[in-house]
Amino acid sequence: MRSISRPGLAIVIAAVAIAATRRPVATTAQQGSPTAQPGTRWSDEQLRQAVAPARVGRTLTPRAWPGNARVAVCLSFDVDNESYLLARGETSQTTLSAADFGAETGLARILQMLDRYQVPASFFIPAVSALLHPQMIPSILESGRHEIGVHGWIHESLPAIDNAAEEERLLTQAIEYLTKATGKRPVGYRAPSWAFSAYTLGLIRFSTTAASWPWTSPTSSCRMGNSPASSSCRSIGR
Ligand SMILES: [Zn+2]
Repeated sequence: MRSISRPGLAIVIAAVAIAATRRPVATTAQQGSPTAQPGTRWSDEQLRQAVAPARVGRTLTPRAWPGNARVAVCLSFDVDNESYLLARGETSQTTLSAADFGAETGLARILQMLDRYQVPASFFIPAVSALLHPQMIPSILESGRHEIGVHGWIHESLPAIDNAAEEERLLTQAIEYLTKATGKRPVGYRAPSWAFSAYTLGLIRFSTTAASWPWTSPTSSCRMGNSPASSSCRSIGR
């Protein structure tokens, strides 16, 4: 977190989510059929379980921001490039060339802007994106101000995969790649398209608390959708 004080205005800059233009991917199961309404027959407990993973939880807003700043701002960027296209098998040169622009031109412009204002930011990178554009990570790390976080292996759709073992395989690959490329294990995570599967939170919870690497398979029994506060889910947060 960083405070910028100006006459009459103090701004705290923490991290910011720059909204991507694509809509989050959601499966039919998540959205539900427009005609089927199973929720009309759910019990009180089923209703509570359904909303539990989406609760805000305890507030993290401090009584006062550092330097008596009036507002907190968070800057972050998703460096997707061609990854989400390749995930679905897109090989059109025309389409891929547009995604290449971000790596070749867009990222440099963003980094220059952040340098100009000496502002820190977080960059969430699918590992395949870094693999195809290996110059990106060194350029982001050059200033020493920015964080690099996990954004999937190839910007895969986790709800579409809907398989704990396969999601864990891709998450493991992504963390291993970024760890080698950056020289340290990433601690930040943003789901591709911001879309969690029923397994995502359990996998992330384990990956951020595991004492050693590589981890042993933690979570095949942890389905948030079934029981968000189940003992099997809690037990992996060791
Ligand atoms: Zn993304």
